[in-house]
Amino acid sequence: MANARALVAPGKGILAADESTGTIGKRLSSINVTNDEAARRNLRELLFTSEGIENCISGVILFEETLYQDANDGTPFVKMLQSKNIIPGIKVDKGVVVLPGTDGETETQGIDDLGARCAKYYEQGARFAKWRAVLKINPATGCPSDLSIHQNAYGLARYACICQQNGLVPIVEPEILSDGSHPISVCAAVTEKVLAAVYKALSDHHVLLEGTLLKPNMVLSGAEADQADIRGAAFLTVRALSRAVPPAVPGIVFLSGGQSEETATAHLTAMNQIQDIQRPWALSFSFGRALQASALKAWGGKPENVKAGQDAFMVRAQANGNATLGKGDLAAGGESLYVKNYSY
Ligand code: 13P
Repeated sequence: MANARALVAPGKGILAADESTGTIGKRLSSINVTNDEAARRNLRELLFTSEGIENCISGVILFEETLYQDANDGTPFVKMLQSKNIIPGIKVDKGVVVLPGTDGETETQGIDDLGARCAKYYEQGARFAKWRAVLKINPATGCPSDLSIHQNAYGLARYACICQQNGLVPIVEPEILSDGSHPISVCAAVTEKVLAAVYKALSDHHVLLEGTLLKPNMVLSGAEADQADIRGAAFLTVRALSRAVPPAVPGIVFLSGGQSEETATAHLTAMNQIQDIQRPWALSFSFGRALQASALKAWGGKPENVKAGQDAFMVRAQANGNATLGKGDLAAGGESLYVKNYSY
């Protein structure tokens, strides 16, 4: 419970740096860098050694390779983070497979040996975990289907239960993809329905909500539809959460889901400014793309640009830290980071 609360301390949030080897390869190839272990280490080291990171980042989600990796000077990354009071976390899911009999809907793999892996990761210093369930919206084909909602909710609940048995705070992530041309009202209704199913499943599994965090999508218009304004989307997001997420949950840490860096931050700021809906939980971030995109570009894989990459990263980290306090402007903009049918 103490770790769950620490992860959503005021002014702080989580850096998702747990891209699988395949996904980080796509990022590195966008800056013409070969995807080898050294390049992956250099990128993660750039982020973790940014000056002042500990002022706005409470925890970092790692991929298994990074949990066991050392920085270039031989310091284990886990020790490096701990020395800055940043909590190491670990992605424990093994990606998604198609649910047979559905319109390409998916469920998440990795339950079979999860208890043993959690025990091993705890031993290595991890104190929280992430499991990404993926749902999609397609009103024409009835997505998300009841089957997909049920499977993914119960998968998340089993994962959360196993994490708690092994001392890890589970981040419960039911991501509803933004793919589609639906209006924001559809995303709002689907988000409420999915979250209600997730909290029913967590209750059935006797998960201690006080020791969990929720990592949801924001309520947004479909990526191919006209976009709602920042305040409107923030309002509908907080309203959906207030209808479905129990006050026992200490914090909600959003994924960025392909929004531009500036837009993701503006939405978070706007949510933390809302007065007319009760917000019993901290509203913070667990961004991947929206914390790393400009840093990646500024670095470009060149040693002489490490400082420029770190400066770009800290601009986003600080802006998002301020957003958790409702501070900052509400200007959207920047380059969209949306990728169709995104995998992590
Ligand atoms: P994005 O912020 O890039 O959507 O990813 C966060 C994440 O960890 C998804 O599982």
